[in-house]
Amino acid sequence: AYDMLIVGGGPAGAAAAVYAARKGIRTGVVAERFGGQTLDTMAIENFISVKETDGPKFAVALEQHVKQYDVDIMNAQRAVKLTPATEPGGLAELELANGAVLKARSVILSTGARWRNVNVPGEAEYKNKGVAYCPHCDGPLFKGKRVAVIGGGNSGVEAAIDLAGIVKHVTLIEFADALRADAVLVAKLKSLPNVAIHTSAQTTEIHGDGQKVNGLSYTDRVSGAGHRIDLEGVFVQIGLVPNTEWLKGTIELSRHGEIIIDARGQTNVPGIYAAGDVTTVPFKQIVIAVGEGAKAALGAFDHLMRTPVV
Ligand code: FAD
Repeated sequence: AYDMLIVGGGPAGAAAAVYAARKGIRTGVVAERFGGQTLDTMAIENFISVKETDGPKFAVALEQHVKQYDVDIMNAQRAVKLTPATEPGGLAELELANGAVLKARSVILSTGARWRNVNVPGEAEYKNKGVAYCPHCDGPLFKGKRVAVIGGGNSGVEAAIDLAGIVKHVTLIEFADALRADAVLVAKLKSLPNVAIHTSAQTTEIHGDGQKVNGLSYTDRVSGAGHRIDLEGVFVQIGLVPNTEWLKGTIELSRHGEIIIDARGQTNVPGIYAAGDVTTVPFKQIVIAVGEGAKAALGAFDHLMRTPVV
């Protein structure tokens, strides 16, 4: 059995693995895709101390760092079921899609999250070529340019306010007939001079010249009329979905499906910890996920020290 089994090989899981292995305990990492969301990222310019890198390079660096230590990396493996220990100090069981069952004295869940897509023509084609999902990450790339934000909930309206301070012009597109964000955010958005808001607007296509985005089309759901906007960027803000479907009923989740953790990264189940984008910790960023992964590993190690083996 493992002393610490980490589920997820993104920044949070990699950090947890390094911290666990450095304690000299038996450590394993199960990952569907080692590297996680960083594999889908172009420029990374906000991981402090690394001025500039790109996602695939960063993912390789994560894996190389983990491989410096004696860690079992089980890549391309998906976890499908977690069964917590039945008594304190007992073993939790993790079932994989291939049928294997792994046992561990402590578990760290770091399965991350995924941005919901709008699923219109052009979105996949121009991902990282004008189509973006993270204003904290990619906002500065659109300095002085025109962008649209799709989604009028809190994250969309926050993104539009944030971007309006960096870019030349922001068009906010909301499918429903009103913005769903908090009133204070909507008021702030409406006060900005370089923002246009379209409600009852259904995005139908993201256009480009083959290299990068140059426009967006939407249909006015009231009049039925089609419109095209010239712009250089589109931020899709219609939800970040935590990868916790397989944990429902086992671990306490928030109403958004995020794993609820305490200040040490522990879930509601003793011995089961969580870290990174999959948790309730706000602001989904690499530098935050890395810190949270380290914290969860230290929290789980502390738990192991205090729990007699049964
Ligand atoms: P993830 O990176 O999501 O990793 C999750 C891991 O869990 C993966 O290995 C996945 O395969 C695995 N997994 C999921 N489900 C299972 C399962 N059932 N069984 C086994 N394994 C599973 N942040 C920045 O700080 N700067 C940026 O510039 C930046 N740019 C971004 C650009 C894009 C396009 C995207 C999508 C995100 C960007 N982010 C950026 C956000 C950043 O990538 C995330 O905050 C960070 O990767 C979260 O790390 P994590 O380890 O919590 O989760």
